[in-house]
Amino acid sequence: MRVVDSGQDDVRWRAVVDRLPMPDQVFVYAVTTTRVYCRPGCPSRRPNRANVVYFDRPEEARAAGFRACLRCRPDEPADTGVARCVERARRRLDTDEAEPTLSELAAEAGLSPGHFQRLFKAWVGVSPKGYARAVRATRLRTALEEGATVTEAIYGAGYGGPARAHGEAGAALGMSPSAYRKGGAGEVIDYTMGDCVLGRVLVAATPRGLCAVFLGDDDAALYDSLRARFPRADVRPDGDSARAVLPTVQTLAAEPGRPFDGPLDVRGTAFQLKVWDALRRIPPGETRTYGTIAGDIGQPTAARAVARACADNPVAMVVPCHRVLRGDGCPGGYRWGTARKLALLEAEQDSQDQG
Ligand SMILES: [Zn+2]
Repeated sequence: MRVVDSGQDDVRWRAVVDRLPMPDQVFVYAVTTTRVYCRPGCPSRRPNRANVVYFDRPEEARAAGFRACLRCRPDEPADTGVARCVERARRRLDTDEAEPTLSELAAEAGLSPGHFQRLFKAWVGVSPKGYARAVRATRLRTALEEGATVTEAIYGAGYGGPARAHGEAGAALGMSPSAYRKGGAGEVIDYTMGDCVLGRVLVAATPRGLCAVFLGDDDAALYDSLRARFPRADVRPDGDSARAVLPTVQTLAAEPGRPFDGPLDVRGTAFQLKVWDALRRIPPGETRTYGTIAGDIGQPTAARAVARACADNPVAMVVPCHRVLRGDGCPGGYRWGTARKLALLEAEQDSQDQG
């Protein structure tokens, strides 16, 4: 369809002025004085707006008696370099745990933030922010449906915290994430506590396997952590499955280099499971950084999210998150205290030296 720019087609005119490379078949513009038609990204001199008409397809411009521009070649497929840089940004928004900023995405594409934003919107239909919001909502919904707790789902989906998730995802889910999660079936979790060389230890298990190993000094605090992690579960003290595994875990505290062969029932987002799996493959006595783990799982920009997944590890020592250090060599955080992390690393080092 031929559209004369009566001064109202601001979106198309903006694309012409900014020379936004557009997907094929979005539109071409023709200049009545030169009788030439161009794609919006054409590098030639900008036309006078009064002389511009738009066509939805190049063949319509041709039929109206215009010639294809020799510089931008509007009849040929659009510059795939642009498609590539938009696709790369979209992939990052799909997979990065921490939402990349507009400036980061723009820098990667070699464009100014404003220019990149308009380009992304032209191709994808929404801004990078809007796209990221939709990705988070999908991740949240999937995690909740797969049985993650609300807290796990919120952090795993990339929300900074519950406030943002409730505000932002409430709309997407049609209800609060907790209400959504409540639909999941309740489950029985056995737990028990005992002493170990690192203080007190709580172990918990479902009928499917070990689901929590928490370290601390105070039984009430350990119990609270368990409730916080499994708020909807039917938590029962001193059940057989927890008691059966306690001695193994107590030994593990003294000899953290031993493999744990029992069944596990750890739940998390796909990303967290990938990180925890990578941690289990670090040989005893060795360490990695958050960055190298991010690289190992194929998401080299996700070091911060890897650190978060380490902090969310529900089974201390069994998934050896103590073997991951900060990039600068500092021990970095440990959910159960840096002193315990260092003690575990030392114990592994000692047994390596003896072996
Ligand atoms: Zn042109």
